[in-house]
Amino acid sequence: MHIQTILNRVHKLKGFVYGKPTVNMMKPTPILEVPIRPRRGSRAICSSCGRPAPGYDHLPERRYEFIPIWGILVFLRYAPRRVGCPSCGVKVERVPWAEGKSPLTTRYTWFLADWAKLLAWSVVAERFHSSWHAVAGAVEAAVAWGRARMDLSGITAIGVDEIAWRKGHTYATVVYQINAGRKRLLWVGEHRTAKTLLKFFRWLGADRSAAIEFVASDMWRAYLKVIAKKIPHAIHVLDRFHIMSHLNKAIDQVRAAEAKQMKRRGVEPLLHHSRWCLLKRRHYLTGRQREKLASLLPYNLKTIKAYLMKEEFHQFWDYKTPWWAGVFLDAWCRRAMYSRIEPIKAVARMLRGHRELILNWFRAKKEISSGVVEGLNNKAKLSTKMAYGFGTFKTLQIFNTVTTRYIQYYQ
Ligand SMILES: [Zn+2]
Repeated sequence: MHIQTILNRVHKLKGFVYGKPTVNMMKPTPILEVPIRPRRGSRAICSSCGRPAPGYDHLPERRYEFIPIWGILVFLRYAPRRVGCPSCGVKVERVPWAEGKSPLTTRYTWFLADWAKLLAWSVVAERFHSSWHAVAGAVEAAVAWGRARMDLSGITAIGVDEIAWRKGHTYATVVYQINAGRKRLLWVGEHRTAKTLLKFFRWLGADRSAAIEFVASDMWRAYLKVIAKKIPHAIHVLDRFHIMSHLNKAIDQVRAAEAKQMKRRGVEPLLHHSRWCLLKRRHYLTGRQREKLASLLPYNLKTIKAYLMKEEFHQFWDYKTPWWAGVFLDAWCRRAMYSRIEPIKAVARMLRGHRELILNWFRAKKEISSGVVEGLNNKAKLSTKMAYGFGTFKTLQIFNTVTTRYIQYYQ
């Protein structure tokens, strides 16, 4: 069976025919090239309007990479025609095997993008004698294809979050859909400024923004401002995960300062190795951490006082109504202000300042599930880890989209 015949079976091109292939057994990678020419009498298609148009001239021959076989690289060779289109002027023709100026055939693009779901991009590139950039380009094309067909209907609850990447020096903003029945990543944007989030709302469009009923976010000022401006009708929730993480950060500060102080005074280093037993919830502690915690409790330490304040705050989330939750919140904040522990007082001030948004949690409780944002966020973190080393924001954006969105579309 001829190679042309095989290609006509697996990759038939309407209006074009395959010519006689040539093989160059170069080391280390042999190359197979298959020329393509227009079928006699077929007219070129204007790439701009998609209509057939009379020929104008030829461009130099180009090579389009196809899926390699038996360790042989495969290229299709073709000299694109230019058309004199009555409505668009002189344009390059549209060819059915590649998009725009891409040096990869569409078939090969999907092939690489498919592998890139399973393996690191560098591995895919190495496996198929391609380059990292070609794989990244293939994934990008696949993502663009998926995004163009993304169904954005029915989004009534969103979560906005920031993720740190490149070891915390750069931030990105991620927006999730967090409806009870549908959780997915919607959008990723560079930085965590008001501008970033405004871009999201522009992307979503006015009508779809108007349909949003609930939004969960951190207390990050830029986000609060934009959310209040763009979707003032939505119930804005400061969610549990973020509030508890503020408390944990406060405990960390108290512990670090107190440990330093104890060291300076030459006291027994009680707080050594205590970090995780103070941050974790009690039922997640390991046996060793439990012992460590029990040994600390009798001491009159600021750290322990802060820890107990945090543990107590967990009760807050069990309230059924915003009113009773508010009563608890006020009482807790009052005691925190008397604690004489500055980081805890700072948290209390912050909670007081956002009282209504925090109580919205109880108004929205049935509509959005807790822990959703953080769960999705972990997934995003995982994929950013894979993107480290390549270090561009674009990669992060593609990666995040790839992990959730495009997989659904591209099958
Ligand atoms: Zn045209």
